[in-house]
Amino acid sequence: MVSCASCGATAETPLGWTTDVTARGTHHLCDRCSRDNIRSIEGRLDLADW
Ligand SMILES: [Zn+2]
Repeated sequence: MVSCASCGATAETPLGWTTDVTARGTHHLCDRCSRDNIRSIEGRLDLADW
């Protein structure tokens, strides 16, 4: 079982989840938080580019 690092949701089979491997360990993001995360990254890139 894995738990979402952002919202704390848990899943037996993390289909569609994102796995982030960092120096501090492995983080899992549920499908919903993954989408939010991608959107925020894109938003940051947009801000950086423009
Ligand atoms: Zn989540």
